[in-house]
Amino acid sequence: MKITIPHMGNVYIAAKILFDSLGIDYVIPPPNNKEALMLGSKYSPEEICLPFKLMIGNYIAGIEKGADTVLLVSSCGPCRFGEYAGLQAKILRQLGYNIEFIVIDPVKSTGFREFFNRIGKVGAESKKNNISRLNSIFTAYTAMSLMDEIEMMAHELAGYEKNKGECRRLLSSCKKDVFSSNDPANALRILRSYRNKLKHLSTDSKRNPLKVAIMGEIYTVIDPFPNLHIEDLLMKAGVSTYRKLTPSWWVRDTLLKPLGLNSRHLLEASNEFLPHYIGGHARECIGEAVLASRNKLDGAIQIFPMGCMPEIVSKSILPAISRKKNLPVLSLVVDEMTGEAGYMTRIEAFLDLLERRRENVRVGN
Ligand code: SF4
Repeated sequence: MKITIPHMGNVYIAAKILFDSLGIDYVIPPPNNKEALMLGSKYSPEEICLPFKLMIGNYIAGIEKGADTVLLVSSCGPCRFGEYAGLQAKILRQLGYNIEFIVIDPVKSTGFREFFNRIGKVGAESKKNNISRLNSIFTAYTAMSLMDEIEMMAHELAGYEKNKGECRRLLSSCKKDVFSSNDPANALRILRSYRNKLKHLSTDSKRNPLKVAIMGEIYTVIDPFPNLHIEDLLMKAGVSTYRKLTPSWWVRDTLLKPLGLNSRHLLEASNEFLPHYIGGHARECIGEAVLASRNKLDGAIQIFPMGCMPEIVSKSILPAISRKKNLPVLSLVVDEMTGEAGYMTRIEAFLDLLERRRENVRVGN
């Protein structure tokens, strides 16, 4: 068995560490790029969401490098995500690929026995004993949390750094260094050393950069390709950004959901405007907007793929939050036809608006 995975931000780093630690054969496809998007768009239903198309592109790249199994996490609805695995497997079979799908659905939907049965399929390839396998999962989760922490620190500190571009450089070399290591213990050391570098970064605390929340559909906010590297762009502009949805957040949220203990602060914040679950992470998006206003951020940017059902609902609620909570919000919709120039112009205009708004507040207009 040779496993491949679809991309979603830095998940590939934790996946590599997990497979290295278990001693399982794997292929990490190239990061999301134009070719993956082109292939995915060619073979997917036209109206399906962007993440689905990119994932098809990832699978094909993995299969061409010898993968015969796709490992994928899923959900059983209510939005299209619950249909991804079945439809993607069908498309790949129609293309003539003989590929097995191991789909990790939430325990709530499959029951414990089936859940562990599917996890067991991945672990069966490993020659490690059960304790070592558990340790491998723990190491991968630790790496995922560290990577998220490093990314969060870099995104915030970019607004305060004394040496322009240092946060971007550190973040980029951290990803390269950790990915080039095949030793999980060494990978954790690398991650801790970068966290340390960021903790001791030379900053100017007198600066008051623009502070912007990044929220919306989880895949398009986490993965830089579909959002046209928005966080990198904002780092370059010296803006501090804050995003609550991360891969390790998703793991914790999924594990705590059956107990009703997941993301209480976000869900409570969303209650005033969207008290019911409608799929995807619409409630989290609404909660993030409310928290952005409470935390006195300058604005919020919502990003979602064209046709994303839960985020269309959030988008229709955001103007009310914007008025009531005095928070400027920009909504960006992305698909395979998104033009870079228009997208960038909208972001620049939004940053301009936030700057001017601050000036007006300062002179008391
Ligand atoms: S959350 Fe939106 S983009 Fe993601 S699967 Fe559901 S409808 Fe598609």
